[in-house]
Amino acid sequence: MAPTVTRLAPSPTGHLHLGHAWSFLCTWALARANGWSIRLRLEDLDASRSSVDARLDALWCLAWLGVDWDGEPELQSAHADRHRRAMDDLAARGLLFQAPQSRAQVRAARAGTPEPSEANAPNEGDAILRFPASLRPPPGAAWGFRDRACNHRLACPPGARTIHDELHGDRTLDPSMVWGDPLIWMKAGVPSYQLAVVVDDLAAGVTDVVRGEDLLDSAVLQSVVIEALGGTRPRWWHLPLVVDEADRRLAKRHDALSLRSLSAAGATPGRVRRLVLHWCGMGNLDGESSLDGLARGVTPHALRSLVTTKTRLCVTPDIVRWLCQGS
Ligand code: GLU
Repeated sequence: MAPTVTRLAPSPTGHLHLGHAWSFLCTWALARANGWSIRLRLEDLDASRSSVDARLDALWCLAWLGVDWDGEPELQSAHADRHRRAMDDLAARGLLFQAPQSRAQVRAARAGTPEPSEANAPNEGDAILRFPASLRPPPGAAWGFRDRACNHRLACPPGARTIHDELHGDRTLDPSMVWGDPLIWMKAGVPSYQLAVVVDDLAAGVTDVVRGEDLLDSAVLQSVVIEALGGTRPRWWHLPLVVDEADRRLAKRHDALSLRSLSAAGATPGRVRRLVLHWCGMGNLDGESSLDGLARGVTPHALRSLVTTKTRLCVTPDIVRWLCQGS
């Protein structure tokens, strides 16, 4: 039987925070309790936002939390050949075209058509820009993959698609209504998140993707890319998001909730692990939790029960005080 493999895939663009700790500790616990192996991939394709400091921070945070992995850590930017081969493959199937239009031009072309629901994807800049099929070039030279310095899009077939999530059950949406033809290659000469994540997960034999719920809709789009590349879908586990009191997903602006700042303020990894168990419905915020305790407590059952009651996990000032109180 093929091995079960998961991965940790931080983008080294800022310090890791409590949201990452939640997601990486859950991934680690599921993996270690069930004999899955864990790969570490630093998703550093956005050269303008990635930094060596953030890479070192990610490694420091994982070690601090007690999260280990199997094999050597990888930099996504080291896989340029693999990414280009995937592009050639998609081009050979007639699915790729050059799309030099600016965001403003796409918006203008779309004026008067209904707006899709707001959605976000990492490394794609702002809210997703839906690219209408009417802007696809006519058959000819603009189809294929010849100029790496040009944006390319994947012709996305219309129609609702359903994926299965281990925690949320089935999720159905029409990716062509949300993304239109999604950006798949960027004029900076690198694949977009949506292509790179699929190509690298397939190459690493990833069978289980555990990550935040903000990417649940992206999984539907990723199923289109997986199919276009002839791959097999992983099992997806989308975890509830960690938010601040204003219900905003934790991000760079929350530096006080970065693991580095919390540890400087007195937080311990044992308490962060205890918080993860508490969020999973196991006990009060009291004492510390070991790695073994975490692996026993973060079960698929506990996570499924959690998503039936909560879609968000809020970091309140009380929680921060508790994390940082002297031991
Ligand atoms: N690198 C992405 C992020 O930090 C994660 C992508 C994924 O897990 O698919 O948000």
